[in-house]
Amino acid sequence: MATPVGLVLVAHVATLAEGVRTLAAQMAPEVDIRAVGGTDDGGVGTSFDAILAAVTSVLAEAGPDEGAGVVVLYDLGSAQLTAELVLETLDPDQADRVLLVDAPLVEGAVAAATTAAGGAGPAEVAAEARAAYAPTAGASMAGMPESPESPESRGPAEEPVEGEERARTTLRNPAGLHARPAAALAHLVREYDARVTVGRPGSPGADAAGVLTVVAQGLRVGAEIEVAATGPDARAAVDAVLALADAGFGELDEEMSAAGPPVPPEPSARAEPAASAAPEPGTLRGVGASAGLVVAPARHLRRTEPRLPPTGGTHDPMAERRRLAAAVEQVDAELGSRAAGGGSGADIAGAHQAMLADPALHAGAEAKLDRATPAEVAWWRSVLEARDLLAGGADQVAERAVDVEDLGRAVLGALGVDARPSVRPEDVSGAVVVAEEVFPSDVAALGEAGVAGLAVARGGRTSHAAILARGLDLPMVVRLGPAVLDVRDGTPVVLDARTGQVRVDPPESELSAARQAARDLAADRERARAEAASTVVRADGTPVTVSANVGGTAEARAAVAAGADAVGLLRTELLYVDRPRLPGEDEQAEELGEVLAELGDRRAVVRTLDVGGDKLLPALDLDPWRHGPLGLRGLRYAFAHPDLLRTQLRAVLRAAYGRGEVWLMAPMVTTAAEARRFRLLVEEAARELAAEGTAFARPAKVGVMVEVPAAALAADEICAEVDFVSVGSNDLTQYVMAADRTNDAVGDLYQPGHEAVWRLLATLVDAARAAGRHVAVCGELAGEPDAAVRLIRMGVDELSMTPSAVPDVKAALRGRLG
Ligand code: PEP
Ligand code: MG
Repeated sequence: MATPVGLVLVAHVATLAEGVRTLAAQMAPEVDIRAVGGTDDGGVGTSFDAILAAVTSVLAEAGPDEGAGVVVLYDLGSAQLTAELVLETLDPDQADRVLLVDAPLVEGAVAAATTAAGGAGPAEVAAEARAAYAPTAGASMAGMPESPESPESRGPAEEPVEGEERARTTLRNPAGLHARPAAALAHLVREYDARVTVGRPGSPGADAAGVLTVVAQGLRVGAEIEVAATGPDARAAVDAVLALADAGFGELDEEMSAAGPPVPPEPSARAEPAASAAPEPGTLRGVGASAGLVVAPARHLRRTEPRLPPTGGTHDPMAERRRLAAAVEQVDAELGSRAAGGGSGADIAGAHQAMLADPALHAGAEAKLDRATPAEVAWWRSVLEARDLLAGGADQVAERAVDVEDLGRAVLGALGVDARPSVRPEDVSGAVVVAEEVFPSDVAALGEAGVAGLAVARGGRTSHAAILARGLDLPMVVRLGPAVLDVRDGTPVVLDARTGQVRVDPPESELSAARQAARDLAADRERARAEAASTVVRADGTPVTVSANVGGTAEARAAVAAGADAVGLLRTELLYVDRPRLPGEDEQAEELGEVLAELGDRRAVVRTLDVGGDKLLPALDLDPWRHGPLGLRGLRYAFAHPDLLRTQLRAVLRAAYGRGEVWLMAPMVTTAAEARRFRLLVEEAARELAAEGTAFARPAKVGVMVEVPAAALAADEICAEVDFVSVGSNDLTQYVMAADRTNDAVGDLYQPGHEAVWRLLATLVDAARAAGRHVAVCGELAGEPDAAVRLIRMGVDELSMTPSAVPDVKAALRGRLG
């Protein structure tokens, strides 16, 4: 439901206005926020007409009620002048309901949005925007807490203040105090006549009404937090915050709330693992992110908070801006030279360059530069804001949070701050490195230092760190949870990335068996790799296609190197995951063309954009519920956004020109009618390109993914519309088992190998074969050797998997297809 007050954000550059809107909307999606940036012809400046249109349209949406209105924020003085002119042309009753606010654009917009989301009127919204980051007694400049080591952060806050109420609690939210819980906190405290702060005990804390200041403290699950309040309602406010914290700020379900606080891992290897905290010898379960089996002692990756220069004193903001720009330029140049190199690191460096250029990151830092705040502090605060906002997103978005922090630290390094973990080769060589999170830049350093493997508490399979580890053949298990941080340095561990398990301090007999298994595995892999390039044939002489799933040029190269016969799934959304907005047709055609070029004459199945569900692209501002696993995702989303699909289809057909064979495939298809409509749209794109005389290649086959039980059960109807089907066993499993693939709470029910999944697969394969259609499987199941053999025996024509699995699957098929 729309709130009574909407916002108009005016900036000189469209991307700046849009970037700030995205930030604010993430915390207050219900507020009508319009971004107006640049001149009418797309240049730098402001447009009278565009501001007028935005203001009148927000006014119209807000309705005529008293208390409804528009708050306008702007970046520079000349934007203010244009906005004032707009106000002068409005009717007096309209103009009375519009407030122009002189406030920092980024912080002001966020404060205004979260206040408006609470139902406040225009005056209160404007006041909160103005107050954003105003210095407050006891808090550091800009209202932002310093790092825990910072001397300024101690002292004053520990002095008892008359009439002040204080209490402590433990943070229970799995993803820490990120944007969403911070927004809930801000809404709550505004209901009390009290000034409330939250933060680490002994620190001045952040004003609880300011979302970014709270988020920027980086409070993680298990952290002790102190709530302090002054004012008439101080006691009631503290009690209410404690109750909210206890309920996980609205993020935890009742069962978890009742279970008491989680084991405290206020993580980052800042804290030495407690000597008494070693778990019983046992097994930690995670997710294999880079294949391998190793037996080695554990060593923690030490990372400290960067030691920033103190705030205060007299800094020249212009000079600080220049220093920051020079440091960013230096890091950009370093990334540029890595991007020009080869290997998986090249793509990732390119993605990092794009992230480093994000205007929101720079706008955030620039807004914080003042006479008391040096470049290092302003930059780091902006980085933490961006990192925490990303961390609050779903999987692949959240995985980008470490990239932002990694980049942030690199820029701090260029500014002369020591912000890197101390990785001494003699400490980690031959060890399994244990960390809460590893940055992409750590992986390269650790690989060079000769580590044996990586055991990570958080992370994900699609993180850049995991991609780099696969490129280096460095075994890695992620998502082991906080318990892995309690494993003491020197403890022998068996890290098995095939099963995603880490055995901690097992008996000697088990260690020596694991060492032997590791040697056997290495020998098998060597053999498998040597034979991987040749095709697997069945006893009757028919070939089996063993393909790879890829998401970019680095994986395409890895697929070729691993001996993949083709690409069975090109996940196009991975090309766009780091972008603030989707690329246009030309850019998409060019980037896809680069991926296809890596494959030579191998065939590739290009899947159209699969967003929603676990894939929430920053560029598309998707609501996790509306676009969740059962919502408007995959092809459903594409149909709802015909221009987006048309652009992509045209780009794929253009990219296919002059390359190896391309097949086109739609994700998340439910009915035969959807399959037919998709095919017609492909035809239409081809007709358009032909009529224009644009060079393109028609896809050799058009097909759909079978990920929805309805599609598998009525596969005969689907097969009548398409040339091939490819099973997405990851999604099919989640829908058959009714267990969200990203929800750890139902992780034990998410069983790709469950008999129910196999039975449905058998139904589908029989239907596809009866219809004479090519049938492939491209989910994770296809990359497991035992399952791969069973699938091929069942009648599947093609298996597509992560590139590193290709040699082992080919070896298993060769040995066992009688
Ligand atoms: C699947 O669902 O199995 C699949 C291959 O698609 P994705 O994992 O990209 O959703
Ligand atoms: Mg899928």
